[in-house]
Amino acid sequence: MLASSSAAERGARVLLLEQNDRLGKKLRLTGKGRCNVTNDCTVAEALGSIPTGGRFLHGALNGFSPRDTMAFFEALGVPLKTERGSRVFPVSDDARDIVEALRRHMEKTDVIHKRCKALGITAEGDGVTGVSATEGVFECGAVILATGGMSYSATGSTGDGYAFARALGHTVTPLRGSLVPLVTEPELCSRMQGLTLKNIRLAAFDGGKRPLFQESGELLFTHFGISGPLGLSASAHMRDFGAKRYYVLIDLKPGLDEKKLDLRVLRDFEKFSNRDFSNCLGQLLNRLMIPVIIEKSGIPPDSKVHSITREQRLRLVSLIKAFRLDIERPRPVEEAIVTSGGIALGEINPKTLESKIVSGLYFAGEIIDADAYTGGYNLQIAWSTAYAAGRAAGSRIQKQGETDC
Ligand SMILES: Cc1cc2nc3c(=O)[nH]c(=O)nc-3n(C[C@H](O)[C@H](O)[C@H](O)COP(=O)(O)OP(=O)(O)OC[C@H]3O[C@@H](n4cnc5c(N)ncnc54)[C@H](O)[C@@H]3O)c2cc1C
Repeated sequence: MLASSSAAERGARVLLLEQNDRLGKKLRLTGKGRCNVTNDCTVAEALGSIPTGGRFLHGALNGFSPRDTMAFFEALGVPLKTERGSRVFPVSDDARDIVEALRRHMEKTDVIHKRCKALGITAEGDGVTGVSATEGVFECGAVILATGGMSYSATGSTGDGYAFARALGHTVTPLRGSLVPLVTEPELCSRMQGLTLKNIRLAAFDGGKRPLFQESGELLFTHFGISGPLGLSASAHMRDFGAKRYYVLIDLKPGLDEKKLDLRVLRDFEKFSNRDFSNCLGQLLNRLMIPVIIEKSGIPPDSKVHSITREQRLRLVSLIKAFRLDIERPRPVEEAIVTSGGIALGEINPKTLESKIVSGLYFAGEIIDADAYTGGYNLQIAWSTAYAAGRAAGSRIQKQGETDC
């Protein structure tokens, strides 16, 4: 939507083909329906949150920065607010306001929206000639391919664009999910299914001493493993399941260091000294976690609390501070917030987003081999690349003296 109006602003006559009834179906889901539209940060900071494609995106992000995104939507009548982690949302907390603003902008710039499924891109020699679609062939002097990734396919991102680009000689790097739930010790996790842990700290490792990622927040246990904001964010740092063995350590009591936690446990142990071990953790841990922690502690559940040794107690404290889960694999790409991989960056001009293989073909958004962590950066990639591709495609049309894009 932004690419089409950016091209139209340069004087091109633009037709936007969308297979869904409504525009921006995925956009409406973003940020749990609130749309984390960007991150209020500098370009350098945004690039730091884009593990794949950051260098390639330097120009596009400078051309349409996070702050430009904010100014753009505010100018379109969507007041914004900034929350924790500099995440930016519409004041209305309604993603539909973002879609509506883009739709109004398209209307203002005379973009024509047609409900129609694209089937392929036609080319002659090394230049595009049009788009074949369910309603026939649309001839044009430039095509912007912005079909998204291949997750949440019910929103329309079924991966068609990858096939269109491949058919024209482009390389599509391996596709997998990022910001995706993680499969980890399913038998253990299924016993805690549905449990959301709040205010915990999670650190992810690949075998090295330094964590790949650590953050405080919310974690959800599912029947297969972990999800929720911390699980999804951790997955974005696990990029090589073929070669590396990943695990996470969960600090269930980040507000207490080991010494303070030990004193707290001691207090409970004194209070419940004649109970069985299995009956003394209710004030410290969630009900669903207790059997799992007891099992991992190696302390027999029917031990009387007064008989638990200092070593056993310290082992319990360490377990609560660093509950380890080995990660088996990510869930399928369909369940991911973003698709990692896509059109190879070496085949795209980073300034114009034009294909280096087929002239007049441009790429924008998630279809490109670039993805980011959570925080509004993935949409920022979409906005920046759309703006650059739209302007370049519009200029090409103008130069050619043609009108259609
Ligand atoms: C649940 C969820 C929440 C998210 N929340 C956030 C968030 O808060 N902040 C953030 O930064 N990112 C978020 N993301 C990621 C973000 O939504 C995507 O990265 C972004 O939408 C990508 O934009 P895009 O235009 O490239 O692709 P899409 O938004 O997927 O749009 C592609 C469009 O192309 C259409 N299309 C595909 N093939 C064809 C065809 N053959 N013919 C015609 N039309 C076709 C599709 O129908 C679709 O409408 C979220 C993603 C999900 C799934």
